[in-house]
Amino acid sequence: MTALTNLLDFSPAQLVEYCDGLGEKPFRAKQLLRWIHQFGAGDFDAMTDLAKSLREKLKAHATITAPLVISDHISTDGTRKWLLDVGQGNAVEMVFIPEDGRGTLCISTQAGCAVNCRFCSTGKQGFSRNLSVAEIVGQLWMAEFELRRAKGIEPGPKGGRQITNVVMMGMGEPLLNFEPTVTALKLMLDDNAYGLSRRRVTLSTSGVVPMMDKLSQDCPVALAVSLHASNDALRDGLVPLNKKYPLIELMAACRRYLAYAPRDFITFEYCMLDGVNDADTNARELVALVQSGVNSVPCKFNLIPFNPFPESGLKRSTNPRIKAFAQILMDAGIVTTIRKTRGDDIDAACGQLAGEVQDRTRVHERMRKMAEYREKFGKDFGRIVEVPR
Ligand code: SF4
Repeated sequence: MTALTNLLDFSPAQLVEYCDGLGEKPFRAKQLLRWIHQFGAGDFDAMTDLAKSLREKLKAHATITAPLVISDHISTDGTRKWLLDVGQGNAVEMVFIPEDGRGTLCISTQAGCAVNCRFCSTGKQGFSRNLSVAEIVGQLWMAEFELRRAKGIEPGPKGGRQITNVVMMGMGEPLLNFEPTVTALKLMLDDNAYGLSRRRVTLSTSGVVPMMDKLSQDCPVALAVSLHASNDALRDGLVPLNKKYPLIELMAACRRYLAYAPRDFITFEYCMLDGVNDADTNARELVALVQSGVNSVPCKFNLIPFNPFPESGLKRSTNPRIKAFAQILMDAGIVTTIRKTRGDDIDAACGQLAGEVQDRTRVHERMRKMAEYREKFGKDFGRIVEVPR
């Protein structure tokens, strides 16, 4: 028996080619795209405006399969975190952050990460593998329609959208898994799929300079750069990729990107580490770095209170220190925000996305147990675990 083709893996253009291969007209691809990404259909029989003969062909050759949910936790502040099985003992995490008038989904692009930033728990687990398009866009597909189901909102293109913003800030360096990431981005932006605006989709990179240029040409979305240091010596120790692409090259790449970006600024993320990168001198160095005449980079700063995890040997900066640091940036006219920590009680705060998957033995054990419990208690076992308020 031949393996089924997962239609979540296809860009709109690839879906046209696939339909062509089945002897179907291009408009069938548009219908399929809408059924899958606007109505959340996972069952070909539900696609009632497709001819029965086509539905039979699809049932014989294709599938619509997102990663399986291992666990599903809701924090007291409404933040929801899913642990997803991506096969061979690998799991990734995805986080939904509800706020007034918007819902942000933070998704992963790799299982593990090779960049190994010193303050990041994902980096500590090492790199396992790149996610496929189906595994990346499948996170949005699964979360959007699960959130609607939970609220009793009908799927469909009009109204009721739960996820208004997507950030690629979960596990992995998206630009080191370029093609699948860009195909997933194109699906997120497509009007026959999720129809998100480029301004509402943000890719976060640690600074893979050549791929930043490629992204500006292939699919320019909003860009966030994990900066975390104000000079090369410091950044070499925190973000090892800096040795390959030092700050002068990174800043030049940011300026080039802005010529194509949907926003007129780059967001710099800066994890606040007590006694490491949080002195007034670091803040002044940052001002000099981004405000250097013709070489200036229009930007915003997002200061992220570090979420300590075992083995990091690092501590979170104190709140007064973070505020004093922010004040120096703001006094220089730079828009600066301090990220609210969300979902602390379920390890969903930034930099903790590997919290539970860091220890592979534990993941194996959890997955084995979950399969056993599902067998015993039904397939929905473990889908929602309410954290008591
Ligand atoms: S911060 Fe991002 S790039 Fe750095 S190790 Fe963590 S996941 Fe990888």
